[in-house]
Amino acid sequence: IIQGIKRSEFVPFYQPIVDSRSKKVIGAEVLMRWQRQDGSLMPPNQFIPYAEANGLIVDMTKGLLSHVFNDVKQFATQREALFFSINIVPEHLDNDDLYQRLKGVIESGELKQHRISLEITERFPIGDLVAARKMLDQFYALGIDLKLDDAGTGYGGFSNVQHLGISTLKIDKMFVDTIGHEDNFNAKTIEAIISFAQKSNLTMIAEGVEDDKQVAYLSGQGVYFIQGYVYSKPLPAEQFFH
Ligand code: C2E
Ligand code: CA
Ligand code: CA
Repeated sequence: IIQGIKRSEFVPFYQPIVDSRSKKVIGAEVLMRWQRQDGSLMPPNQFIPYAEANGLIVDMTKGLLSHVFNDVKQFATQREALFFSINIVPEHLDNDDLYQRLKGVIESGELKQHRISLEITERFPIGDLVAARKMLDQFYALGIDLKLDDAGTGYGGFSNVQHLGISTLKIDKMFVDTIGHEDNFNAKTIEAIISFAQKSNLTMIAEGVEDDKQVAYLSGQGVYFIQGYVYSKPLPAEQFFH
């Protein structure tokens, strides 16, 4: 992995997030792939858990961001503003490296009309919520918002939502998969998540949406922002921007 970091081999794929009403792409999640020297691509489940457990992910994200900013510079000519959602871990909030990096890019104007967004998973605990919030407020001041990834699967329940100033819940595929299986326990959970989000004025993105039936159900529940194979798999930069 250290070799890979030096060689800038951790590259972004982009999965479109689509408004099911207009069918327009509103943004993308940036998903890391390991592009080896032999040209092969390694999916994240084969190296991210190790990288996260060993503190390597912070440097990998740094390299990933350089690719993202180059891609935006090179390809993002379309006029509609998109957001690019970056996966972070709690360690990214321990110091202001990421903040300074994003601040520099935003102030340079090279992102043009586009925005950066952050995703943090509910699966990891955040040690010091007060310190994390302090750092997050600096991101918010730059116009960068925070999305809660894997909502409903995890650790802090929804108590972190308010503490951290989260704008958006990403409804996990685990719950989307239950659509159409109403007797399932998780099917009740998806209703609870949606109801919580609505009452808390949170934006929602449904993840892992694979068919039109799921899109229709979600739309009936007021969830319009869709990420999933029903619209597109994660794509390499050139294809995504094209
Ligand atoms: P995630 O953040 O929950 O990302 C969503 C995953 O669901 C992606 O898997 C995406 O390809 C997949 N997905 C989206 N729509 C569908 C669908 O309709 N059907 C199915 N079967 N899958 C769908 P991917 O790209 O393999 O990433 C796996 C995980 O690796 C991510 O889950 C995230 O936890 C982690 N990851 C990826 N990139 C990064 C990164 O840059 N930093 C960190 N810390 N973690 C990352
Ligand atoms: Ca994510
Ligand atoms: Ca997720």
